[in-house]
Parts: sequence; structure tokens; C-alpha cells
Amino acid sequence: MAAQTLQLRPLGNTGLNLSSVGFGASPLGKVFGDVSEQDAFAAVREAFRHGVNFFDTSPYYGGTLSEKVLGKALKALGAPRDEYIVSTKCGRYKEGFDFSAERVTKSIDESLERLQLDYVDILQCHDIEFGSLDQIVNETLPALQKLKQAGKIRFIGITGLPLGIFTYVLDRVPPGTVDVILSYCHYSINDSSLEDLLPYLKSKGVGVISASPLAMGLLTEAGAPEWHPASSELKAACRAAVDHCKGKGKNISKLALQYSLANTDISSVLVGMKSVKEVEENIAAALELATTGTDEETLSEITDILKPVKNQSWPSGIQQS
Ligand code: NAD
Repeated sequence: MAAQTLQLRPLGNTGLNLSSVGFGASPLGKVFGDVSEQDAFAAVREAFRHGVNFFDTSPYYGGTLSEKVLGKALKALGAPRDEYIVSTKCGRYKEGFDFSAERVTKSIDESLERLQLDYVDILQCHDIEFGSLDQIVNETLPALQKLKQAGKIRFIGITGLPLGIFTYVLDRVPPGTVDVILSYCHYSINDSSLEDLLPYLKSKGVGVISASPLAMGLLTEAGAPEWHPASSELKAACRAAVDHCKGKGKNISKLALQYSLANTDISSVLVGMKSVKEVEENIAAALELATTGTDEETLSEITDILKPVKNQSWPSGIQQS
């Protein structure tokens, strides 16, 4: 019998096939607590060994630390460059937001140097709700198209929290300008509002990456980090769901990841990982979903617990005029 491997899923019209579980590298920037370089390298190696081919980072994560650590870890794999897909971002930095053509054009060179790569597969405008969406349409995306022509990036994406930003931009650019969107915290057990947007994105040929299946830590036993923007009501409901699972000897993070993975219109579910243990658990969750399915009973119990806060999000970005 062939060894079980992760499913590969097409990413919109890009021709790329992403592993269903993607490696979110923000934890490598220590945004979820300390991580040694050794643990980070081991996590990346273990993920790649199990068929994870998609790695996502940003200059913002840990003030460039995530890009540097991921770059070293990928280099240490010694694998041919076309065996892994790397996405990074532009426009959001430790110092603040800057989506100007000048800044994003400089930014990719800095990212490539930190990542020790000649090109990235996807460059995404990071959290565009914090900038002017019209600037994204009229200035940032044209600058990224030039980077595409120059061979520094293969595909272009936009990311952010409010779902309306995606339709705003996609309705205003020619087809093929934006290859991919990255949405986060909107396809999880507590919030699945991305689902309604999937037919629209499909009709536009835009690939969909869904990040934060564990709701940035809310759906983990360790809980959310200090900076988590959820309301105290949402945090408490998620804590109750975690405790319910724990009481039954179940792992909420496994159920949460399986929930996100079950929708095959999502090309890759990006989960933040910082240890071999987390990688192994998440790969096992994906393989279990593909073979025996998920624990429907516990999922339904958690869904009930989370019903009062279903699709509750938090404000993000500046009001667009
Ligand atoms: P997440 O929901 O994936 O949660 C990550 C947290 O869960 C970390 O603390 C991690 O250590 C922990 N974890 C992972 N596997 C676990 C397991 N099996 N058991 C218990 N805990 C586990 O949130 P995230 O990291 O914010 O999102 C994933 C990735 O998506 C990010 O790393 C980043 O690459 C990307 N992302 C992008 C944006 C954006 O572009 N605006 C926003 C959010 C996330």
C-alpha cells in the first residue's frame, strides 16, 4: 500500500498545487512565544518530509525574523527550488504600513535576501485594510506586476481580515491581476464566513488560502497569546469549547484543523507551527480526515458551544472612504 501523503490542491489559475496543510511561519518570528532556531529548522524539515510544500511568511513577523529563520531552514533542506512554494508579503512592517510602489519594490529585494532566494512564488500585499484600497488597485498591484515581469515573483496576492476588501479590489482590477487571496480567521469552527465568498472567488479564478484554522490560538489548549484581538466573550466561548474537548480526552486543535481542511475549495490551510510535535499532530489530523473522517459528535458539541459567538470577528484596519 502506498504511504499516505498530504493532498495537493490547485491554487486558482496559477498552475501551482499546494499541500492541503501549509506551513505558517509567523511562529518562527516568535509571535507565539520563544522558538529556538533548532526547533524551527526541525519543524520545517519534518513538515517538508511529510509533504508540506507551501511555506508562508512576511517581513512583519517578528520584525523580519520569520523570513530569516525560514530562509535558513529551507536552505538546510537542500531540496530543489521547484519542490517548495514560498509566499511572503509586502506593505506591512514593524515600523508600520507602506503600500507605495517605491516601498514594495524595495521590499521584495530585502525579502529575497533574507529568504536567500532568487524569487518567491507568491508576493502578497499584507493586510490591505490598513492602507488605501484605491492605492492598492492603482499603485501597489501595478508595481507588483512589474516585479512579476522581472521574475522576482511568480504570482500576486492580497491578504487581510475584513472579507469586503477582496471584492472591493477584485471588482476593480482586470482578470489575472490578483492570482490569490489569503483570508484568516474566517474558516474555523467559530467563524466560517469565508464560505459565502468562495463561489465569487472561484468565478474570478482566484486561488484561496485560508489561514489561522486554530483562530490564532483560541482553539488550542495553550490558549490565545496576549495580543489576540478577540472580545472577552469570544475568548471565553472558545475556552469553554477547549475545556469541553479536554474533558472528553479530545484535542480541539485536531478538530479545528480538520474542519478547515474539509472544504476542498480552499487550496491550502495555513497553520502556524513551531515544533516537530505540532507538525506531526497536524499532519496526522489531515491524514485521519482523509481516511476515517472527523469526530462528528464532538464537532457538533463544540459547534453548539460556539453558536452564540458564531462568525463574531473584530475590527481591523482603517475606515475606507
Ligand atoms: P493558527 O490558527 O494557525 O494558530 C497558531 C498557533 O497554534 C501557534 O501558537 C501554534 O504554535 C499553535 N499550534 C499549531 N499546531 C498546533 C497543534 N497541533 N496543537 C496545539 N497548538 C498548535 O494562527 P496563525 O499562525 O496566525 O496562522 C497561520 C499562518 O497563516 C501564519 O503563521 C501566517 O503565515 C498566516 N497568516 C497570515 C495572515 C495575514 O496575511 N494577514 C494573518 C494570519 C495568519
